[in-house]
Amino acid sequence: MRRKLVAGNWKMNGSLAALAELDAINDAADGGVDVAIAVPATLIHPAAARARFPIGAEDVHGADSGAHTGCVSAPMVKEAGASFSIVGHSERRQGQHESDADVKAKAEALHRHGLTAILCVGETLEQREAGKAEAVVTAQLRASLPDGASGDWLSIAYEPIWAIGTGKVATVADVEAMHAAIRAALAEALGVDQADSIRLLYGGSVTAENAAGLLHAANVDGALVGGASLTAAKFVPIIKAAG
Ligand code: 13P
Repeated sequence: MRRKLVAGNWKMNGSLAALAELDAINDAADGGVDVAIAVPATLIHPAAARARFPIGAEDVHGADSGAHTGCVSAPMVKEAGASFSIVGHSERRQGQHESDADVKAKAEALHRHGLTAILCVGETLEQREAGKAEAVVTAQLRASLPDGASGDWLSIAYEPIWAIGTGKVATVADVEAMHAAIRAALAEALGVDQADSIRLLYGGSVTAENAAGLLHAANVDGALVGGASLTAAKFVPIIKAAG
């Protein structure tokens, strides 16, 4: 039985003052649902000291150290207090031109250092309208799937790019169809048992209002929440909807 995971992604938002939001989330995180928040690298250390649930990074480099100006590595975020990282978010795949091979290397770096990973995949509106969404997403998944993938340390987040930060949420039927396709692709790559151990999260304009329907859909094991994770007032009801 996969436990539900409600994960936040603060993106390039937050400050030391904003960490006060974590106090109310601590109380909500004591239930039967796993809660985690990925924060900007500068906030990992103070956030991890304040949260009673896992704090993570939003990205790491695939290498442990070296001449990569501006990047942070898995052992660095681990030392700062992170226990996981997001990899392959579309804002990095598109905005920072990251390839599937980059994403695979990042996930493997996390596993090498005992951290867990949330690996993101998702299609553009153009790809969906052309009827190619499942083919695009499963190809992305196969090419960025790390060696040794297992539910012990890996979750997959399906985030349709057209639903991120737009208020346009995918329908429950679309999410169920895509998650079934992802589960089938994982089974083909890893075998049914390993595939069944991996949590599949949905992300893209998740709010308190739509969370219950999405979080209890078939093959949906949690949510990756952007804007609505920035305040306890918006995030706690999503955690409660997962329970
Ligand atoms: P929003 O919830 O703001 O749409 O962001 C989703 C997301 O990209 C989470 O990683």
